[in-house]
Amino acid sequence: MTARILDGTKIRDQIFAELKDEVRLLTAARVRPGLAAVLVGENPASQLYVKSKIAACEEVGLASALITPPATVTTLDLLAVVEDLNRDNNVDGILIQLPLPPQVDTKRILEAVDPAKDVDGFHPVNLGRLISGRPGLVACTPAGCMEILRRNEIQIEGANAVVLGRSDIVGKPMALLLMHANATVTICHSKTRDLPDVLRRADIIVAAMGKTAYVQADWIKTGAAVIDVGTNRITDPKEAERLFQNIPDRLEKFRAKGSALVGDVHPGAIHTAGALTPVPGGVGPMTITMLMSVHPGAIHTAGALTPVPGGVGPMTITMLMSNTVKAARLRRASPKFSATQSTTAAR
Ligand code: NAP
Repeated sequence: MTARILDGTKIRDQIFAELKDEVRLLTAARVRPGLAAVLVGENPASQLYVKSKIAACEEVGLASALITPPATVTTLDLLAVVEDLNRDNNVDGILIQLPLPPQVDTKRILEAVDPAKDVDGFHPVNLGRLISGRPGLVACTPAGCMEILRRNEIQIEGANAVVLGRSDIVGKPMALLLMHANATVTICHSKTRDLPDVLRRADIIVAAMGKTAYVQADWIKTGAAVIDVGTNRITDPKEAERLFQNIPDRLEKFRAKGSALVGDVHPGAIHTAGALTPVPGGVGPMTITMLMSVHPGAIHTAGALTPVPGGVGPMTITMLMSNTVKAARLRRASPKFSATQSTTAAR
């Protein structure tokens, strides 16, 4: 049995196609959803993220604007930028690219964003809506993980789901989404005792720890669905040899590039276990010897697994696009929006 690959790129393409249709209909009704990205300073990683978000807007047909305050910006200056965007009726989604410089009060900025335009789903109002199961804007990465599970028809209701990590942006909202979908959820963190034992009982694992290849193949129940949120860059050839010892194409790619992205789950969890599963009724001693020399953990193999890269990664930007379209639909249909439109028209 080979673990089924839960391909995030394929789902991104499906969702993009659906969003393009929706944006076409909205545009025909004179609503062109728009995203404003605020990129402070010149952090190369942040610049790259924002560039891909703007490119995604173009692909889907959304309007986009980029606001680039200098790295020296103050909290008050940035609050004024956010207030302008809150008031701008053409802006449906506001994205504050993190991290912000140390002199800026990040929480204050994020809380200043109009919850109706909070397409990252970080505002306490949207978190509160998520807790109480009311419609709102949900953080993009956990929302993307749910799309992966649903579109691959993985049974969530009644499943034992373990979320590894309790951050505000991934672990906590993920656990709430799974609970609302009727899974029985366990949240693990750095103080959890006997993590392997907890994981071995999971039908669904969502790993969001930021620890390279931490979850071992033999901690995963045979057939479990594993969503690997971790994105860890490795550059050490020895580490690559160890992690990719049975995955020659990945080792080759590492050697060509000098680095690779690895999730929080050991890449060995993807190993084909079919050839290794003991045949009912017993296997010959020679076969067992050969099996044990291959990879002891490979016998416990995930039933389905998101690859890193190409699993959760593409879904985060996808859900940002989806949230922007949703925000446009909800906000522009609200009586508050109609009121601001008629006030503007009367001027
Ligand atoms: P974070 O804020 O650093 O949180 C990490 C969580 O993991 C914490 O709750 C921590 O527990 C827990 N943890 C750390 N070591 C642990 C251990 N040994 N056993 C059990 N739990 C442990 O990270 P994050 O922002 O949620 O991100 C997690 C990972 O996802 C990172 O690799 C990040 O790069 C990646 N990520 C990817 C995407 C994407 O689009 N693919 C998006 C967001 C994040 P404590 O609370 O006890 O410290």
